[in-house]
Amino acid sequence: MITKTKKTILIVDDTKINIDILLELLGDTYDILVSLNGTRALEIIDENHVDIILLDILMPDINGYDVCRVLKSKEKTKHIPVIFITANTDEESIENAFEVGGIDYITKPFKALELLARLRTHLNMQELLKELEDSHKDLELLASQDHMTKLYNRRYFSEISMKILELAKRNKKDLSVLMLDIDKFKNVNDTYGHHVGDDVIIALANVLKNLSRNSDVACRFGGEEFLILLPETNLEGAYAIGEKIRKHVEDLVIKLENQETLKFTISAGVAQIDIENELNLEKTIQRADDALYEAKEGGRNKVCKS
Ligand code: GH3
Ligand code: MG
Ligand code: MG
Repeated sequence: MITKTKKTILIVDDTKINIDILLELLGDTYDILVSLNGTRALEIIDENHVDIILLDILMPDINGYDVCRVLKSKEKTKHIPVIFITANTDEESIENAFEVGGIDYITKPFKALELLARLRTHLNMQELLKELEDSHKDLELLASQDHMTKLYNRRYFSEISMKILELAKRNKKDLSVLMLDIDKFKNVNDTYGHHVGDDVIIALANVLKNLSRNSDVACRFGGEEFLILLPETNLEGAYAIGEKIRKHVEDLVIKLENQETLKFTISAGVAQIDIENELNLEKTIQRADDALYEAKEGGRNKVCKS
């Protein structure tokens, strides 16, 4: 992949000579897109990546203020900084420019070095904001994810399950949970070591990812215990999904580094929430856990319904 280092500036001005002056000044340092009117400017922004906009105010079709208003009203474009560049020097015009969401205001005739410095400053700020946003996203992901399996963690599950439950209640939809646990996992650790044990947990997590629907929420509930929330699924449906996972795991062969192979099984319990009467998932999860216990008692490699 080619990484783009040059920033892209969109220059919008209805006077060709103004665009030429700016092109001369900025063309070497930046990638430049130009438009002679507001309508075309909006199209260009829609079709291209634009880092910052130099926007004239007085233009024949849509004026600069309105172009800026449109940009600021859309999720996709509202973060692109807009610098107004105009012959208007009265206070009201300047105030208006900030009012509609402009980040800066430069009057014509402009001083070249000042314009360059302002552009650099705003582009740097933009970069910093982007970094901040990215690290915020990373943090959010970290807070919601189990590091080892990349499944959701228990904390996130509690949060999202309340929302999913509310939705199910409002729309009178079924909602079930599936709890599963690796059989005799201690033996795996004891025989092959903790490292291999970890790999088995990761392999199971991948099975859960592959077999679950987008709307399902699969989470690592504890060490080798997993919980899947199944929206729009009744008890029979949950059981069928449990069986599918159980069989898939039963057929799974894990290759170890020394060419040995390892097989394992899981047990699961499923339960459906009483959507009319239960206020949270606590009892449903408890019933799924009881069913899981029954599956263990019944010989393991089994799915039981509560
Ligand atoms: P059962 O069939 O009754 O579930 O037997 P089990 O041996 O799987 O049950 P138990 O819950 O007693 O043991 C689970 C073991 O899982 C104990 C713990 O050391 C191990 N374990 C928990 N988390 C991890 C982990 O992240 N990695 C590894 N390798 N082992 C883990
Ligand atoms: Mg176990
Ligand atoms: Mg366990």
